Amino acid sequence: MRVWSLLVVFALLLGCSTSPVDHAFDGEDSEEVVEPVTCSPALKRYPVNGPHNGGWDKNALTYACHPHPSHAPDNSDFIKGDHYGNDIFGAKGTPIVAPVDGTIVKSGWNNVGGWRVTVRDGCGWYYYLCHLDTITGGLPVGASVKAGQQIGTLGNTGNAQGTSPHLHFSIYPGVYEQGIDPFPLLQAVDVGACGQACKPHCEGSTIVGADCGKGNCAAYGATCVDDAKGVRCAFGMCPTIGSKKICIDKETIGDCHDGAVSTGKCSAFGANCVDDAKGARCVVVFCADQPTTAHDVCLPDGQRAHCTDLGGLTDVAPCPSGTSCESGSCVTPSDGGGGSPSSSGGEGGAGAGEPGGSSAGGSGNGDPWGNTPGADEIDPTALGHDGHQHPPATPVEGACACRAAGARGPGGVGWSLGLLVAALLRRRRPLVAAQH
Ligand SMILES: [Zn+2]
Repeated sequence: MRVWSLLVVFALLLGCSTSPVDHAFDGEDSEEVVEPVTCSPALKRYPVNGPHNGGWDKNALTYACHPHPSHAPDNSDFIKGDHYGNDIFGAKGTPIVAPVDGTIVKSGWNNVGGWRVTVRDGCGWYYYLCHLDTITGGLPVGASVKAGQQIGTLGNTGNAQGTSPHLHFSIYPGVYEQGIDPFPLLQAVDVGACGQACKPHCEGSTIVGADCGKGNCAAYGATCVDDAKGVRCAFGMCPTIGSKKICIDKETIGDCHDGAVSTGKCSAFGANCVDDAKGARCVVVFCADQPTTAHDVCLPDGQRAHCTDLGGLTDVAPCPSGTSCESGSCVTPSDGGGGSPSSSGGEGGAGAGEPGGSSAGGSGNGDPWGNTPGADEIDPTALGHDGHQHPPATPVEGACACRAAGARGPGGVGWSLGLLVAALLRRRRPLVAAQH
């Protein structure tokens, strides 16, 4: 009873409504002096840092780290004049964290809320968390807290004794009865993973990850996209969804998967990147004059080889003794080019040693060739190459802040974009904006 009389006294002093506060708030917590708020309330963190329901759930006390709004029974139990907050159910002992940066203005016991903490943010909003099982030590009134910092554990103290453990959470501008329904703000930060600090999102070309870390996609020639595949950096030359091979430049092939690109150097295999009706692929330089037609060629060292209809090189073999390679055929020098085709096994080997590979590759593991085993079978000696043969791409750890910031995607956008940038810098070419 003392509580209500005090409340009335305070309410009269403040000149505000005399409607009674709800069952979770002790009128003694009312502020004697209330400064006007200077901005809208905003939560940085969901206050229950563990499995919970998403607000009042009277049908099923199911606790999860679930994405919203899939959990249909969640709803607000904010009722003006009766319940100025939301009850969030969870297991007793679940960590309760500060939902905002601010200052602790109340901490300890009151008979209604039980163990309770009130945090005031820089704009003058009050965030009231009660029925706690415990309050974290070392957080006296006046202490600063950061959003996400643990302030206690979930319980059912005060007048919640005998109920299922829950957090009562209110947001008010100093006067409790002027509180707002916290439900939409809670939902906005209930991002589907317990302990997740931020909901991944785009801010222009900047990507913000689950750890609230930021990365500038634009620094990697990419944009930030947020679609059915999630929040990530998508390379500008790639479709944001789907797989596609592209030519980054004459030497570099890219393999796009949902906006992420992994790159390989065609030049490492004596090839150029060609993008025509048959798609982007590496075409061996000796086949580059007819990249879409199967034909035989003579290599500079006198060997004969076959160019596939994708521009890959197969069947490299020396001409039989007494013959030499001319215009793709092994001929005896005296017969004027009549040709004695020294078949080297025909077309059976197609695919082996074909750097362009099948455009249906899409392995997603950083192999833009779609046919790495075949690529590995190229004999660099036979190509007159220096033998410096590598897999198309080598991961470069930490090359991209995007990945640290939570970018997703097969192959990872991080290292591949880093390689790409390096390649572009070497090429000193502008980033071509053309989409293929
Ligand atoms: Zn409540």
